[in-house]
Amino acid sequence: MNSRLWLLLGSAVALTACARPQPASPADTIYFGGDIVTINDDQPSVEAVAVTGGKIAAVGTRADVEKLHKGRSTALIDLGGKTLLPAFVDAHGHYFSSLSVANQAKVYAPPAGPGKDVPGILEAIEQFRVAHQVAKGEMIQAYGYDENVMPDGRLLNRDDLDKAFPDNPVIVGHVSMHGAVMNSAALAKFGFSANTKTPPGGIIIRKPGTNEPYGLIMETAYLPVFSGLPKPTLQDAAAATKAGQMLYAESGITLAQEGATHADELALMQRATAEGANIIDVVAFPFMTDLEKILAANPVSGWGTYDRHFKIGGVKITQDGSPQGKTAFFTTPYLTGGPGGEKNWRGEPTMPQAELDQLFKRVYDLNVPLLVHDNGDAAIDMVLKAYAFARAGDTTRPWNVTTIHTQFLRKDQIPAFVKNRIRPSFYTLHTFYFATAHTSNRGAAQAAYLSPMRDAIDAGMHPTNHTDFYVAPLDQMFMMWSAVNRVSREGGVVGPDQRITPLEAIKSQTIWAAEQYGEQDRRGSLEPGKIADFVILDQNPLTVDPLTIKDIKVLETIKEGTTVYTRTPSAP
Ligand SMILES: [Zn+2]
Repeated sequence: MNSRLWLLLGSAVALTACARPQPASPADTIYFGGDIVTINDDQPSVEAVAVTGGKIAAVGTRADVEKLHKGRSTALIDLGGKTLLPAFVDAHGHYFSSLSVANQAKVYAPPAGPGKDVPGILEAIEQFRVAHQVAKGEMIQAYGYDENVMPDGRLLNRDDLDKAFPDNPVIVGHVSMHGAVMNSAALAKFGFSANTKTPPGGIIIRKPGTNEPYGLIMETAYLPVFSGLPKPTLQDAAAATKAGQMLYAESGITLAQEGATHADELALMQRATAEGANIIDVVAFPFMTDLEKILAANPVSGWGTYDRHFKIGGVKITQDGSPQGKTAFFTTPYLTGGPGGEKNWRGEPTMPQAELDQLFKRVYDLNVPLLVHDNGDAAIDMVLKAYAFARAGDTTRPWNVTTIHTQFLRKDQIPAFVKNRIRPSFYTLHTFYFATAHTSNRGAAQAAYLSPMRDAIDAGMHPTNHTDFYVAPLDQMFMMWSAVNRVSREGGVVGPDQRITPLEAIKSQTIWAAEQYGEQDRRGSLEPGKIADFVILDQNPLTVDPLTIKDIKVLETIKEGTTVYTRTPSAP
């Protein structure tokens, strides 16, 4: 056969291929071969998903999807029995802190990290020092230290850190974000000595028998340290952004919330955005203290629209503190008194009612979404009053309001949430982390009603759930497990009648969280036209033993059709 004939035959083959009907717009990718959980009640599970141009082109049976969307260039991805879900949406957290902690050693207590005791913490910091080739004299920072779990009350102290790290200032941040343990070099750097007086509202633990600072420095005593810690600069904004956003991608999250944004932080995020650094979407909520300053530089007309994966989403107001810190504001006293031993202590609101009313009205008049932090039931009462004040009976337009934490919601407050379409974003991780503290401070009945997801859902609401990162780790499977099981660190079940189903727990981290951002048409479920943001898990949370949901691993995270994280086989 001569070469000309070969050519002719080749053309014939090519013609045949061309003649085969090609889809109008062939998909870039088709996923199949595993459980595909859509979080769309009308079509809960499908065999295949097609992605074109970063969006979902089709979902359905594999045969249908391939018939209509498989082209010559389409990549066929076999899930190999793994589970594909819509990517998680962060309902509340502090994204900006990820830019710092990406360059710190993680010492969370188990199961979130290695900080089960002092040797475990020192080992984790040493591994970090070696892995990051930290030079002599350079500061080492760690985060997530929880003294409550240290065995036999043997707490981390300055001597431990001095012995292990004689050549570097070391600061081990407390899990509350309100304090740290430091070694001698770090204490000296921030001017702490035996002569340092403990400021009002502060804590400086002293070495027994001496006046030397020995361990934890907390609250007001820690503030100068906090404000003096190295922050990412405009020059390294892009690098810090990528490192921080990878922490989210590793957890299967493609929308991160910056849940209390200051003006300088916003400027840095905008710089990183301009440099094209965003891997995932970030939504910032200017904090009440910086609202007018931020508005002056960022007119409200530009809010609410993504620019290169970043947008300003609304305003953040805080109206009380935390129940474990006894700074949440209640209608009834703490059973254990106040943080300073006060009797009949109910906590305190951040601001009086009249001031809160005016702030709510300001946000309502701006016509932007509102996030409001409230933990105690008295703070929640104040928020409901301020909401009514701001709207003054106006029902001509909806107002997107989400209450953050709302942990000690009373059952009789639920109807006002339903009527006003106020969405609670709960914090079920407290059933694991703080059950003992809440039970002693607030009594068993209130502790059991903590973050009442079941009642909220049964009342017709779509509550979300959050980690408050980095107060708790970003681990989405652990949070899901806590909402489904409500098992405490001690092993008891905290409020069994407030447990929710795995499907509801997933919704609170996907479609309901998307609704919270007003993005239910864009993300949160697998439906044609939505962005192709997926997470691939090694097991299906809907079919495993609910007590093992926390052990499910995030294998891959996909942002608008592009894989942004793949788990390495050796990862823990
Ligand atoms: Zn928060």
